[in-house]
Formats: sequence, structure tokens, C-alpha cells
Amino acid sequence: MIESLLIANRGEIARRIIRTARKLGVRTIAIHSDVDRTMPFVREADEAVCIGTALAKDSYLRQDRLLAAASETGAAAIHPGYGFLSENAEFAEAVIAAGLVWVGAPPAAIRAMGFKDAAKERMIAAGVPVTPGYLGADQSPHRLQAEADAIGYPVLIKAVAGGGGKGMRRVDEAGAFGEALASCQREAAASFGDERVLIEKYILAPRHIEVQVFGDTRGNVVHLFERDCSLQRRHQKVIEEAPAPGMDAATREAVCAAAVKAAAAVDYVGAGTIEFIADASDRLRADRIWFMEMNTRLQVEHPVTEAITGQDLVEWQIRVASGEPLPRRQDQLAIDGWAMEARLYAENPATGFLPSTGPLETLHFPHGIRIDSGVEQGGEVTPYYDPMIAKLIARGRTRPEAAGKLARACAKVRVWPVRTNAAFLARAAAHPDFVAGRIDTGFIERHAEALIPATEPSEAVLQAAAAAILPTGADDPWTALRGFRVNAGASRQIQVVVADRTYLVELTDDVPAAHVTDGVLFLNGEAWPFGPDRADHVAGGAAAGDGAILSPMPGRVIAVLVKEGDAVAKGDRLVVIEAMKMEQALLAPFDGNVIELKASEGAQVSEGSVLARIEAQG
Ligand code: ADP
Ligand code: ADP
Ligand code: MG
Repeated sequence: MIESLLIANRGEIARRIIRTARKLGVRTIAIHSDVDRTMPFVREADEAVCIGTALAKDSYLRQDRLLAAASETGAAAIHPGYGFLSENAEFAEAVIAAGLVWVGAPPAAIRAMGFKDAAKERMIAAGVPVTPGYLGADQSPHRLQAEADAIGYPVLIKAVAGGGGKGMRRVDEAGAFGEALASCQREAAASFGDERVLIEKYILAPRHIEVQVFGDTRGNVVHLFERDCSLQRRHQKVIEEAPAPGMDAATREAVCAAAVKAAAAVDYVGAGTIEFIADASDRLRADRIWFMEMNTRLQVEHPVTEAITGQDLVEWQIRVASGEPLPRRQDQLAIDGWAMEARLYAENPATGFLPSTGPLETLHFPHGIRIDSGVEQGGEVTPYYDPMIAKLIARGRTRPEAAGKLARACAKVRVWPVRTNAAFLARAAAHPDFVAGRIDTGFIERHAEALIPATEPSEAVLQAAAAAILPTGADDPWTALRGFRVNAGASRQIQVVVADRTYLVELTDDVPAAHVTDGVLFLNGEAWPFGPDRADHVAGGAAAGDGAILSPMPGRVIAVLVKEGDAVAKGDRLVVIEAMKMEQALLAPFDGNVIELKASEGAQVSEGSVLARIEAQG
């Protein structure tokens, strides 16, 4: 077996590889950019070499520096992980030419599968069913349009060099083709430096089914069953599982056999994935599953396959690259249980999934399931690389058990102040259609409203926040909750600031069990900064320096708590406004007297209208 391994990657996959290498007694060498210096994977490797600055093109993609680092450290092999240079045939060749072991796909196989059109041609020749469509060299808009018309709409235009869900356009009618083609070509040229496209029939009720394959240097190829990656957003995977729901034994047999045939056709060695698209409008049927593309690397979602087969795929990679035969024959592999993986991203679903970067002051994962993460509490999400924070991998004896575990785990994630999709994932995994296995690639879009958390705190969040600030004399929020329950019965109104807005909350008896730390409340995967109302914290810019109390939003005055001439102290509640089921109290900005009162109960007010005026004392 190889004695040492340089990992040409970062984050969670670098850590994942280190874990197995250590188990096998293989010395590990991490390479990293300057901004990644303090990351766990750098510390956990036996050695680490800084190879450049933040931008990937100046570090993780610098082939010359990677090879120099390998030579300096006496590395025997290079593992490329996924992304970055993992499917770069020239790099694979350079590694091999330098006398190193390449723990990746053979360069010829990477090339054969590198372009989607050539890969499909090759598969057709090998007798693998491919998605119907046009793969021709004639790229004139006129010809492409004619081919799309002949295929019949809807069609999907795909960049032949595409990946990561980029460079794809669905077209529903002939009239929209020209414009979609032009925009797809622009994106393809910009992202992949190659504007060539192919056209495919757009499969209805599409499910993404892929098969994990493995080859060794002795010509053996096996499969490790299928995964279902239909839960996608913008053609990118969000939740993956294995096996695929609704896959019967005969269909599985057919798809897995097609995958093995595909891999064997390119003399595949190492870990690879054959991706298929299935028309699941009826059910999963062997005659409605077509080859889409091959990924010539280990994939992000490989843990679900590990979970149901009990195999360590990184170990398989290292053994096969070292020249050993596959650790298992086909008849020694079986499916045991069900597994699901959710990708936790640093992004904010409430703002259209904008990426969120910054320090990870709080980073807590639940126990009892597998977590593959590249970061730790106290670390940071930088804007330079992939926004994935962690993968949560749940395993159960049955699919409902795995889904339940995954949903509960996602709901328990606590991250702050970086925003995440944890609540979105928890909702997706708990959605009745998901639990029932009614999934296809349109699932997320179809259920967006139910999955994306609101920008305003829910009643449950307000209840938990209000309960948490109840004065009980105890620092511990749990004591505070118990204290509250003892006093339950009498209604209590509490003013609380959540995410910079003041709410007047009528405390009820069922306070949800939120987790509260340092002014942040975590509930069902959501994170809300909150606190007791502070006098210096007047929401919405309501108090101008001159003492004018302005309405922060259009709404209705539901309470006027002062009279003209009243003396008020800084922080006193003056007026309560309600809009869209949200209440907001406006507070006195300083000690003084109410010299003017314009608000009256029940009145509608517009944003910015003057409700009262306070004159400072003295
Ligand atoms: P990438 O290289 O970006 O992964 P793929 O060809 O694998 O591109 O397609 C990505 C996703 O796009 C698939 O997982 C599927 O959701 C969708 N897709 C691809 N081809 C089709 C098709 N012919 N019909 C319907 N959906 C498709
Ligand atoms: P899959 O392997 O499931 O098809 P994707 O195509 O979504 O996964 O993932 C590959 C992508 O992962 C790369 O294109 C890159 O953006 C991202 N990536 C690369 N390296 C890392 C890393 N170390 N940690 C997290 N993400 C990475
Ligand atoms: Mg793909």
C-alpha cells in the first residue's frame, strides 16, 4: 500500500480522506491556502504545506505548486478529493508522469467522460440507454432549433462542458428557444470556456438516480447500488439518499448493470458515479431510465452508500490505487437499511439563498448521526470556497426512520451568526411528500413556500424568546422556563426584541423548548437574535433625535399608553402598532414629557407618520 498521501483539496473532504488514511497507517500531507491556515484539516494532517493565497486559482488549482509540495514532502500519492482538480486529465497525467500514484480516475476515462456529448456517444456505442436528444457537431442556432423542434418540447439545452448545475436551460416552447440558447451559450462560454451545447428531451417527473461504481486495475468493475439525488435546487443536490425509494429488485438490477457496463466501456478504475435521469411519472421502470453523465471522482454524497453497504469508499480508493484488487466481489455486497444526507450550506433561504459568510461563533451539531464537516466552532466561512458547512448523514433500518432522524438532526443544528439552510433542510426532511417518497427534481420548487422559513419570527419563536427573558433571578434559561410554568395561569405580556424588532408577546402555556445562548435563540434549525427590550433599542428608527415618535411601518394603532403632558422615562412604552400580525411597541427615546400625541387607538397610520413627540427633561 502507498506509504504517504498528499491531499489536493480542503475542508470536509480533506478531513474525510485523512480519517481513512490514518486508519490505514498512511502518512498524510495537507496543502492549503493562506486563509485556510487554521482549519482543522491542516492541523489534522501529519504535515501541511501552504501553497498560495486565497483564490483557488492561486492555490488549490496550482498544479505546479501541488507537484512541488509532493516532491518536497516525499509524498507517494495524490488524492484530489472532489471539485478542484479531481476531473482534470492533464493534472492526473502530470501526477503520474512525476512518478506518483494518482488516487483518482485514469486520465483516459476522465477524458472520455469529460464532455457530455462525447460521453453519450460512447455510451450509445456501448449499448447503454441515453437520454434522447441531439449531440451533433453542427452548432448553428438554426440547426439546434430544428433539432429541438424535432425532439419536441420541453427540451433541456446543456453545455457539453457543463457541471455543478450550470449551463442548463429548460425550454417549453419553440418560440423561447432562440433566447434560451443564446443565454445558455453565454453562460457556458463564461463558466467553462466552451459554448458548445447539446439538446435533450426534458424528462417529465424527473428523478435523479445514480449508481456508485468501482473498478480496479485488474479489470474488475462492481457497483455499490444506487442513490437518489432528486431533491435539488437549481439542478444542485440538497438531500441525497440510498437506496432509491420505489426501486424494485428487477429495475435495480437493470440500472446497476447498465452502470457497470458504462464504467467497463471506459476501462474505469477507482470510484465513479453513473448518473441517470428517470421518468418517474408512472413509477421507476427500467425502460424509462437513461444515462445522463459520469462523474469520474468520489462524490459529495458517497457517505449514504457507505452507510448502507458498510464499506469505506476512501479505503477502497486507496487500496485500488495501490494496485490491490477490489475489497469485495459483487456477490459480497448488499444493501442494509436506509441512509440520507443533507448538505448544510452557509446561505440564507429567507433572502433567496444568498451566501452567508463570517465567523462561526456558534457551531453545534447534534449527536447520534454521522457529521462530515470541514469547519469548527470559532472558525470562519470565507467567501473564497464552496459554502458547504457540513453533511449530516442519518441511517435507519427503514426509510421513515432515516427521514425522521435526518429531520430531527437538522432541526437541532445551531449556527450563528452565519446563516444556514438548516431549517429548510429540517422542513424538507419532515415534509409529508418527502416522507412518503413522493419526490422528483421539482419537489423543492413546488414546496418552496412550506420549506423556506419566514423572515418574521413565528409565534413559537416569540413565545420562546419572551419566556427566556422572564426575570426569574436565574441565569439559566431552562430555570427561567420552569419558573414561568410554575406561574402559569395568569396571562403575562412581555416585550421582547427579536431580530431588531420589538414585539409585545402574550405568553401562553406552551412555550416551545428552544435552545438559548448569549442572546440567540435556536429553534427548529432557525436562529434568532433576541433580547429584552432595551431603552436604547428602539426599533425601526422610530425615535428621531428630536423626540418625534414615527411609525416604523404602515399599520394600525392598537394601544396608546400615555397622555399628553405625561412624564415618561427612557424606555417607557408609548404606543403599540400592529401590522401583518406583528406587534411593535414604540418606546420613549429619553426621559421627558409627552408634548404632543397624535396617535389614537384603532387609527391606521402610514410608515413614517408622527405618532407622538417627546421633549427632553431639563
Ligand atoms: P451537471 O453536470 O451540472 O451535474 P447533469 O447533466 O448531471 O449536469 O444534470 C444536472 C441535473 O439537471 C440533473 O440532476 C437533473 O435534475 C436535471 N436534468 C438533467 N438532464 C435532464 C433531463 N433531460 N430532463 C430533466 N431534468 C434533467
Ligand atoms: P457531487 O459530487 O455530489 O456531484 P457536486 O458536483 O455538487 O457534488 O460537488 C462538487 C463540488 O464541490 C465542486 O464543484 C466544488 O464546487 C465543491 N467542492 C470542491 N471541493 C470542496 C471541498 N473541499 N469542500 C466542499 N466543497 C467542495
Ligand atoms: Mg450531474
